Amino acid sequence: MLILLDIDGVMVPSTPWKQPEILDDGFMQFSHKACIALNKIIEETNANILLTTSHKSSYSLTRWKEIFNERNITVQKIMKLNDNVNYLNRRDEITNWFQHLSKQMPFVIIDDDKSLNALPKNLKAKLIQTSSTIGLTQELAKEAIDNLHSQELIIA
Ligand SMILES: [Mg+2]
Repeated sequence: MLILLDIDGVMVPSTPWKQPEILDDGFMQFSHKACIALNKIIEETNANILLTTSHKSSYSLTRWKEIFNERNITVQKIMKLNDNVNYLNRRDEITNWFQHLSKQMPFVIIDDDKSLNALPKNLKAKLIQTSSTIGLTQELAKEAIDNLHSQELIIA
């Protein structure tokens, strides 16, 4: 199982009136609520993380693992989409990734990006869209868990 994870507007709510706190490692603090919600999904589904965020290219995977650990996210494996060298929108980045996927597996897309509303139907069914100013919530975590489990039944 896989969580295609965005950061801005998901783990770090976008609050124009307030700059996000920066931790000692130089990256933004995640919202406490979003961390609880993400950990819940990981605990219930054993999902790994595939970073889709535009910050993905800023760090190596080893460094990302440390950044998540530092924020108390306990995930087994972190991966990332290829660097977005062609400046694709999020929808096209994810659609490309899916086209090259060699083996079917349950996944959800957790993102606030509006371009994802135009995803093809089969992918949009896996979209858990956050509100940019709120980020990931318990309710959305529940939705993600249910979504992953129902895909598991279909694939199995
Ligand atoms: Mg975002």
